[in-house]
Amino acid sequence: MMREYQRPTASERVRLHLNENGAGASPRVLDALRTLGRREAGCYPDYDAAYAAVSACFAVPREYVVLTNGLDEGIFAASTFAFRDRRTVHAEAVGVSPAFDMYEICTRAVGGHFIAVPLDRGLALPFEAIRARVTAATRIVFLTNPHNPTGATVPVHDLCALARELAPVTVFVDEAYADFSGATLIDRSVLSDTPNLIVGRTFSKAYGLAGLRVGALVAAPATISRLREVLPPYSVNAWAAAALPAAIADTAYREWYVAQAAESRTLLAAVCARLGFETWPSTANFVLVDFGDRSHAIVRDLARRGIAVRHRSSDPGGGFVRVTAGLVEDTRLFVKALEEALCDARD
Ligand SMILES: *Cc1c(COP(=O)(O)O)cnc(C)c1O
Repeated sequence: MMREYQRPTASERVRLHLNENGAGASPRVLDALRTLGRREAGCYPDYDAAYAAVSACFAVPREYVVLTNGLDEGIFAASTFAFRDRRTVHAEAVGVSPAFDMYEICTRAVGGHFIAVPLDRGLALPFEAIRARVTAATRIVFLTNPHNPTGATVPVHDLCALARELAPVTVFVDEAYADFSGATLIDRSVLSDTPNLIVGRTFSKAYGLAGLRVGALVAAPATISRLREVLPPYSVNAWAAAALPAAIADTAYREWYVAQAAESRTLLAAVCARLGFETWPSTANFVLVDFGDRSHAIVRDLARRGIAVRHRSSDPGGGFVRVTAGLVEDTRLFVKALEEALCDARD
């Protein structure tokens, strides 16, 4: 059973295993960080500029948002919040499998049981099976849109309808990749009318701030107040707080990277189809590929050629590999390495 997140380390030159922005942060972020000095390092951070930027970015008033030390901390806070006032010893979270590991890890960390509903071969979100597993013991339901590791998107109104149907159970919708799909549940009236809904966002992926650690939870103001009760007051450090307005202001940089991701997805899907490997339609900055029983050899070969990918070998089927679809330049390196690896395997 999983208790601790296994950090996928990589020494390879091309990192296509964690869906980071391969070009890094916007140069404007570095300019903002260079203005900080001894005073900022020595003082507790001020968040006014960061909250002003993030609430404008999401088009909601600031009492709808709480900043977190990456979305990972947001998932932990949502878990703590959901299990804090449970009425029974046995309390559960419901999620799907495969999914982002932190839902299960955080649930277990706060003493909950995690119920995993398997995705079928089509990898679609099993709404009926999720509903069937929600009982009086359920405190929170974790969903991801677009989903990780499949990249699949479901219509936001379906998620909204599910959240309303399952109320008062907390429904956490992780939108780590919503910058790529363009679809979001963040809307002032939707959130106000659905106080059991919490939307998670991160600035690690499209915005390229994974090293700085900044994410956000977005929900109705009363829900945000209760989430603040389980979060440390200064969990976002001064450098991350200064980076955020600069990153958000550089819309051209983010749009460039989002366009790179779209081109990379098309390229990866076409190449895999030509080589006879199944992929799933993705709206995020990664593509899931089924390399079947050749996956171990392919992942090893790619690593030898300097390319790290995410082997999801413990998922059903065993041959699934998630490949970041970010910079087109990196995607071309992946394609070249894959073709060489397959050629060598035939010799
Ligand atoms: C990357 C990722 C996160 C974590 O983001 P951080 O802000 O870097 O902690 C959360 N959820 C999903 C689905 C992710 O892929």
